Amino acid sequence: MTLVYLDNNATTMVAPEVCEAMMPYFSEMYGNASSIYDLAHSANNAVKESREIIADFLGAKDPKEIIFTSCGSESANMAIKGTLEVNKNKKHIITTKIEHPCVLNLYKDLEKKGYRVSWIDVDSNGDLNIGQLLEEVCDDTALVSVMMANNETGVIYPVDKISEAVKMRNPETKVFVDAVQAAGKIPINVKDTKIDMLGISGHKFHAPKGIGALYVKTGTMISPLIIGGHQEKGKRAGTENVPYIVAMATAARLAKEALNDELTRVKALRDKLERGILSSIKNSVLNSKSKNRVPNTTNIGFQYIEGELILLHMNDLGICASSGSACTSGSLEPSHVLRAQGVPFTSLHGSIRFSLSRYTTEQEIDYTLEKLPAIIDKLVKISPFQKELNEIFK
Ligand code: PLP
Repeated sequence: MTLVYLDNNATTMVAPEVCEAMMPYFSEMYGNASSIYDLAHSANNAVKESREIIADFLGAKDPKEIIFTSCGSESANMAIKGTLEVNKNKKHIITTKIEHPCVLNLYKDLEKKGYRVSWIDVDSNGDLNIGQLLEEVCDDTALVSVMMANNETGVIYPVDKISEAVKMRNPETKVFVDAVQAAGKIPINVKDTKIDMLGISGHKFHAPKGIGALYVKTGTMISPLIIGGHQEKGKRAGTENVPYIVAMATAARLAKEALNDELTRVKALRDKLERGILSSIKNSVLNSKSKNRVPNTTNIGFQYIEGELILLHMNDLGICASSGSACTSGSLEPSHVLRAQGVPFTSLHGSIRFSLSRYTTEQEIDYTLEKLPAIIDKLVKISPFQKELNEIFK
């Protein structure tokens, strides 16, 4: 049966080279990276080398600025809670309305605990109101937290410029960037920015699930989330997951090599898919028209039909995509990102995110473009909104 995987923002296939690189660390080189005998040295060296590769991937000055974590959610929680813990006298946070739930729900929780959170708006294209964000910065602002690329729409946020401008207003305010959906899709270079912390997750760029990293700029104080042993220089306790650390470093090296392909070939395929859908399906609309989008993502609304039904019909033909983010799918709540953009209810419930990867082929895009119009046609016929649809199709 055909399988067309267009849900790479949910997770990615582990690259064969990544599997190969990590396997020996399960069997021959299984030592604890903190032990002193030779068996452990190979593990220790692998962690050291991996840290250097991740530092290079993110453009960090010093490998010591990289802390290995278990996922993007942990990286975000560590950065946010760790910053607030060492800045107890400050009670104000600035973030956006379109963050991933691992950030958004944490801020909602902090709001209940007495923090004042400023939630910054986006416009109908998905672009951020940066003026509004900067106006909110005050003496009490402990943290500004803006994602680098949105997981549902792919819109890129100018975090370098935002961090510069925030520091001009208050040099003490810390800046955290959730770069989980940017890593491997666009270049990241923290070195010349004022970003204090930046989180990534391996499974979004062809490493396994269960490994992530947090960049913490030298001199930035954060308290650990997990307290215990002295691993990761006391900033994150727990025996190092050597195979997965090696896997993420290998995936990062491959992603860096493939970046040009991502920015050209993958983008061309995404554009072909987007153009093809919008021109062949009359009730389709592009949800985020921002000029700044990661090259692999498009989010398209199909007016007056149900997104979950589209997904089920696509699944029957072997096409995988998603409505909303993987973490909210199944909740039937319309996407908070699209609601923040003011997407009307007519396409809010029928919005589908297609996300490609460097493994996506032109044949897969052609297959999707061939099959999708018939699926939408079928669902249009059973929609309760016949009058409105007749207007669109007349
Ligand atoms: N941040 C963004 C933007 C994401 O898209 C995701 C996952 O979808 C996360 C954070 C959480 O990453 P993880 O699944 O590794 O916890």
